[in-house]
Parts: sequence; C-alpha cells; structure tokens
Amino acid sequence: MGTEPELARHLAQARDFRQWADGHADEIETTQALPTALSARLRELGYFGITIPRGYGGLGLGLVGYAEIMAELSKAHAAIGGRVALNNMVASQVVLLGGTEVQKQRFLRPMATGEALAAFALTEPGAGSDAAGVSTRASRDGDHWVIDGMKHLIMHAPIADLVTVIASTEPERGAKGLSAFVVPRGTPGLRQAPAQRPMASRTTVGELHFEGCRVPADHLIGAPGKGFSLAMRALDMTRVGVGAYAVGSAERALELSVHHLQGRRQFGRPLAEQQGLQWMLAEMATDIAAARALLRSLAAKMDAGEPASADAAMLKLFASEMCGRVADKALQLHGGIAYLHDHPISRIYRDVRLWRIVDGTSEIQKTVIARELLAADQMPSGTPYAG
Ligand SMILES: Cc1cc2nc3c(=O)[nH]c(=O)nc-3n(C[C@H](O)[C@H](O)[C@H](O)COP(=O)(O)OP(=O)(O)OC[C@H]3O[C@@H](n4cnc5c(N)ncnc54)[C@H](O)[C@@H]3O)c2cc1C
Repeated sequence: MGTEPELARHLAQARDFRQWADGHADEIETTQALPTALSARLRELGYFGITIPRGYGGLGLGLVGYAEIMAELSKAHAAIGGRVALNNMVASQVVLLGGTEVQKQRFLRPMATGEALAAFALTEPGAGSDAAGVSTRASRDGDHWVIDGMKHLIMHAPIADLVTVIASTEPERGAKGLSAFVVPRGTPGLRQAPAQRPMASRTTVGELHFEGCRVPADHLIGAPGKGFSLAMRALDMTRVGVGAYAVGSAERALELSVHHLQGRRQFGRPLAEQQGLQWMLAEMATDIAAARALLRSLAAKMDAGEPASADAAMLKLFASEMCGRVADKALQLHGGIAYLHDHPISRIYRDVRLWRIVDGTSEIQKTVIARELLAADQMPSGTPYAG
C-alpha cells in the first residue's frame, strides 16, 4: 500500500491528468474511442497497475489509492477509468489471488504496465445473475485444456490481449466445478467478435467465442474448481472500483449543476437563488458525501485484508443508485439543453446507468447483503451470487 505522501502525490497527478483529459471528452464521444495520447499517458502514469503490487510492475497503491485516483479520472470521462478497470480489478485480481509466482510474473506484469489490455469473461447468454450457471466447458487433453463455449457482454472483448475466463471443468459440481484460465489473444480457437454498440460510448463490449480453444495446462489459475470463489472474491474488490466511478461521475454532475445554476438567469435572477433548486443541490451533495464515506471505509477495510463481502455489496448498491439519482437531478436542473445528446450531463446520465447492472445488479447486491444478515444456510438454494 502507498504511504500518505505517495498517495497525495499520485492524487495531485491524477487531478492534473483529469484537467488535461477534460479537453478530450468530446473527441471520445465523437470517435467512440480513447485517443492514443490518452492511452499513452495512462500507461506513463502507471494507471493500468494501480492495485497491482510493485513486485509485478504495478504502483502497489491498494484499493484506497485506486478509489481516489479512479474517482478523479471518472470526472473527465467514464471511458478513461473504464480503459484501466479490468487490468486493475477482476481480470488481474483473480491471478493475484490464485496464481503461482510464475503466473503472476507472466500475466500481471503486462497488465500492470498496460502492455496487455485485460478482459474478464464470466457472463453468458444463459448465465448472468446466476453466474454459477456457466456452460462454457474446459476439458483436459494431455498438457492442454480445451475450452468450448461463448461469453457475451464482455468489456474489451474485441480488443483484449489477455482474457481471464471462467469455465466449467466439472459440470456436475456446479459452482464448485468452475475454474479460471488466462487465454491470450491469438490462442487458436479464440474468436473475438466485433464490438457491439452500447447505450453510452464508455465501453467496448462484445462476445468471445471459444471453439476448441487450446490453452497450455499452466494457464489454469488456482486448482480446478476454485474459479468461482476466486471470481467472487475478485468481484468484491471490483465493487470498490464501481463505487469510485459512481462517486467521480456524480461529483462532476454536481460541479456542472452548481456552475449552471450560478450562470443561468430566469425570471430576472440567477436560478441559484431559487430555494427549491438549492435544495436539490444539497440533496445531491449529501448523497455523494455518503457514498464517498462508504467508499473510503470499504477500501481501507479491504486493504487491511478484512472480510467485506456484504460491505462491498452495500457500496455497490448505494453508489450506483446514488449516481443515478444525482445524474437525474442534474439533468432536471439544466433543463432542455442537457437533453441534447452531446451535452456532458446527457453523457453522464447514460454512462452511470450501467452501474446498476454490471458486476452484479442492484437486486443481486441486496441478495448478498440479505444472505449475510440471514446466514447462508437460511437462504433458498440456488441463490445467485454476483455476475
Ligand atoms: C456494458 C456491459 C459490460 C459488461 N462487462 C462484463 C464483463 O466484462 N464481464 C462479464 O463477465 N460480464 C459483463 N457484463 C455482464 C453483467 O455483469 C450482467 O449483465 C449482469 O450481471 C446481469 O446479468 P444479465 O444481464 O444476464 O441479467 P439477468 O440475470 O437476466 O437479470 C435480469 C433482471 O432480473 C433480475 N434478477 C435476476 N435474478 C434475480 C433474483 N434471483 N432475484 C431478484 N432479481 C433477479 C436482475 O437484477 C435484473 O434486473 C457487462 C454488462 C454490460 C451491460
């Protein structure tokens, strides 16, 4: 974990980066791609490996550092945080939690430096919230595993260099028969389908097809059957990331709203003088402050190695719903101009809608929280976990 002065230095750098990146937001919207200069700067600053330990080429700043930096980057454009998210979060954390030393050096280093763009492939057409229902199959064949199946809604699917995949090695064992593999781009039998068009320009999302895809046996991460628990632990960490993006986007929406109300005059005076509108700002700021407090305490708890599954679900639930409320109020405060497609509030409104769905929907987060309250053995069998 980083020391306080280190974190302060990195945060100051992230603020400078954000100021500069602000000027590229329109270009991202128009081209639906991250400008090369932005990707290059993300690499220079080490942002592909904020959470990855220094021994594997990362910044080693833990979740506390990740949360602060990602909240700042998300203010410029959600696609910027999105580009580094998988390298820092679930795709790399599965390797960090379950990999051997050799696997960590081999797979984490290129993820940490940004030389390889990572993806994480769990979701399938038949296995979303019910993540344990994965039907992609991996069978042992000599010193290889052969993977067959299809994943959809996978972030970075068309452009990823390293894919952390969850596949079933013992279908009759359900979740306990799932295993994790790292599959590099170009592996025979891996087809990375062209990008699908999402609601917001933040993501490159698509399908991965595994057709007799042969990976060497040493690409299995952890023991066979450990894939589901590795993925669930890694997804807990990912929820810190979602909390950070949600807080950053909401803070940006609030900044823009304050500015708008101060500048816009109706009925002969600034909108900022209308008490009803002031109260909306106050509600937005309070919502954001509560999410920030949850985010900071969860990141510190997880960095200290304490179990925090239910806390992670609470943050994901609260922060993702919070930024929906804030974006909605921001649009209302701006009036019709913000309904135009290219307005920054319109972009934030579309961007943040994802957070209530991805990495486990709001309903699934509630299930995780309730499961802990009621104890797992009192829940009906087949209770979903994440996805
Ligand atoms: C842009 C984008 C990027 C994504 N990136 C990735 C990625 O990189 N890797 C990856 O593996 N996945 C990814 N996903 C998939 C995402 O995690 C799933 O969409 C999500 O988990 C929900 O699954 P589903 O879409 O199949 O919805 P479903 O599971 O079909 O759910 C539909 C609705 O039913 C509700 N529901 C389902 N079961 C229950 C229940 N038991 N109780 C109460 N309500 C329930 C859900 O909350 C939801 O409202 C991505 C999705 C999107 C949109």
